[in-house]
Amino acid sequence: MSRTARPFADLVPSAPSGTARRILVAGGAGFVGSHLCERLLAAGHLVVCLDNLQTGRLGNVAHLMRDPHFSVLRHDIIEPVVLDGPLDEVWNLACAASPPQYQRDPIHTFRTCIDGTRHLLDLARSREARFLFASTSEVYGDPEQSPQAESYRGAVNVWGPRACYDEGKRAAETLCYEYGRLGADVRVARIFNTYGPRMSPEDGRVVSNFVVQALTGEDITIYGDGSQTRSFCYVDDLVDGLLRLMRSEVRDPVNLGNPVEFTVRDLARLVLDMTGSTSRVVHRALPQDDPRQRRPDISRAMQALGWEPKVPLAAGLSQTIAHFRSELFRPAAAAVQAS
Ligand code: UDP
Repeated sequence: MSRTARPFADLVPSAPSGTARRILVAGGAGFVGSHLCERLLAAGHLVVCLDNLQTGRLGNVAHLMRDPHFSVLRHDIIEPVVLDGPLDEVWNLACAASPPQYQRDPIHTFRTCIDGTRHLLDLARSREARFLFASTSEVYGDPEQSPQAESYRGAVNVWGPRACYDEGKRAAETLCYEYGRLGADVRVARIFNTYGPRMSPEDGRVVSNFVVQALTGEDITIYGDGSQTRSFCYVDDLVDGLLRLMRSEVRDPVNLGNPVEFTVRDLARLVLDMTGSTSRVVHRALPQDDPRQRRPDISRAMQALGWEPKVPLAAGLSQTIAHFRSELFRPAAAAVQAS
């Protein structure tokens, strides 16, 4: 993987306006990162997207490639990030976030969290750029209280298959805290389950799995009895919260997620209803350390950022189903048209 020694100005040379910020988005070709890049560009900023394309996909940002204010560099943040020239903001959204994906190479996941965050913090600090770290509800582990407020310290198993991600993100938060004490300008978002268009069909998380299974007629795989809960936030709502946090003066971690809680069983039923699928529901073993419940307390985000999610699950799912329909069936449709 190459070191990125090019000046920012070589990558995105022209400033559209005096208020344009020079922004680096690590993980910008990922599901959330690509939506963020799109919003930043729409606001007139200059964006360099850094991605190792492990779970990110160039297809997620293909529609942005023609924009002269956008550039993509393939780089793995476990290596130092050497990008010359002034920078105003550094966003760290780089890490596989789906359990099967982040468990595929756990040491790499751990290094992405720790070495990667340190490299980006060093870069941000050297340019006096503001830094935002995409942390996670996984810092609360398998929580013993609900909803989870930022003051809750969590129940994380350090000796299990989720630890590479959970403990990696917790340690990265510690780095953010310590760099903040040294004067870095740091924001930390604790992101709860997020879904929406541009999730990969191979992602492995529950929303993408259920929608893909329903659309292709495969069995819907509920892990365990399906009574575990999650709260699902539509990606546009999340990105809105991230932008508000980055523009705020809030230096403590902030939960960003949708506080409406569903069981996994509820989700399966909703997906089946909305797709009209005849897929069977089957039960598979519950993965080790799978959290029993998860629901954010978003009081801090509401008070400090004036933020709360607006998109109900059914509305967001409808967009997500449309996305997967077009991604899964596009080649067949194109072939039919061409014949
Ligand atoms: N899950 C499921 N079937 C699947 C994928 C996930 O029942 O095909 C469950 C999983 O065990 C967990 C919940 O759905 O209880 C959310 O899992 P996901 O992988 O989306 O993310 P997590 O919140 O666990 O990080």
